[in-house]
Amino acid sequence: MSDTKSPGFDTLAIHAGAHPDPATGARITPIYQTTSFVFDDVDHAASLFGLQAFGNIYTRITNPTTAVLEEKLAALEGGTAALGVASGHGAQLLIFHTLLSPGDEFIAARQLYGGSINQFNHSFKQFGWNVVWADGDDISSCEKAVSPKTKAIFVESIANPGGRVTDLEAIAKIAKKAGVPLIVDNTLATPYLCKPIEFGADIVVHSLTKFLGGHGNSMGGAIVDAGTFDWSASDRYPIMSQPCASYNGLKIHETFGNFAFAIACRVLGLRDLGPAISPTNSFNILTGMETLSLRMQRHCDNAQKVAEFLAGHDKVSWVSYAGLPGDSDHALAQKYCPKGAGAVLTFGVSGGYEAGIAMVSKVELFSHLANIGDTRSLIIHPSSTTHRQLT
Ligand code: PLP
Repeated sequence: MSDTKSPGFDTLAIHAGAHPDPATGARITPIYQTTSFVFDDVDHAASLFGLQAFGNIYTRITNPTTAVLEEKLAALEGGTAALGVASGHGAQLLIFHTLLSPGDEFIAARQLYGGSINQFNHSFKQFGWNVVWADGDDISSCEKAVSPKTKAIFVESIANPGGRVTDLEAIAKIAKKAGVPLIVDNTLATPYLCKPIEFGADIVVHSLTKFLGGHGNSMGGAIVDAGTFDWSASDRYPIMSQPCASYNGLKIHETFGNFAFAIACRVLGLRDLGPAISPTNSFNILTGMETLSLRMQRHCDNAQKVAEFLAGHDKVSWVSYAGLPGDSDHALAQKYCPKGAGAVLTFGVSGGYEAGIAMVSKVELFSHLANIGDTRSLIIHPSSTTHRQLT
């Protein structure tokens, strides 16, 4: 007998976290376009500031429209809690701010979005956070990169660009052995195609700007806490396990248990660094999330057809798309994202750099721009744009 009480993915995408507005009965969560919220009384205010009660103080830290987005995403990913942030990069900043101290290291797979490579290589170095690069498709290179200073491993489930699929279970094993959390950027897959927590991820990060929002109209990012990592097993994560000076000695992991990481990112990182998502962006992204499964399936079906067409074209020298049966990651795609290998594919045109430039100059229906995950079809030439700072 099927369990009729557990809602499926599509039902969660519409209903999780969302209730008729208690003040007005509005069926859709309204845009709470307000900076701040009135306290019931002085005791209520004190308990909110002391983290003894949950509630709204100031939109930099919590907002009721964003709260629906957070609950919906946590439900879709199978996490214990989530945090909405201004952008995917803002979310990455808060994660590493919570995990690292100056001089610490983290391992990242080389197969990453170019902006993340820049963030890790340059901006994070200014905080004394040192990235150690490994090959996501060479498990032994990840293993060799582990050192006593390693505090986390970071990979993308499906890599942007290139569409490489990461062997999440193998990397999760390395992270477990090293006693560090595995962080998975699930932007390209979305939880519709792949749920990294089921394969051992401890933290999932998203750029909501892409497929989750899905319409090219709003920036957003999110952190999902799997609730799986034991932050108190060692003294390596002092923000999580040690008394917190800015909350009168409160210990975040001890107090908040399996959603402590999301709380730490909110009440320390978001509070102090400030990359809050606007309530209007949360509203737009929530609307997009309701149709995630329909859009992602159609995106993948279209990408598969485009990849097959390009693979047979005489002016195309190679196609990188794990949905193609001959692709080196095809078996990984079938394991980790059996419904489709994502909607981003990469190809080379015969004639090199100049031919690439000519190609993006001549497209008609496609838009030449720097984004992914829109309803419109998009194209970019990485070596003259997103990846031009790289070798
Ligand atoms: N992660 C991936 C895989 C991305 O593609 C992007 C942006 O393209 C980001 C993170 C950064 O997200 P945002 O642009 O929302 O800061």
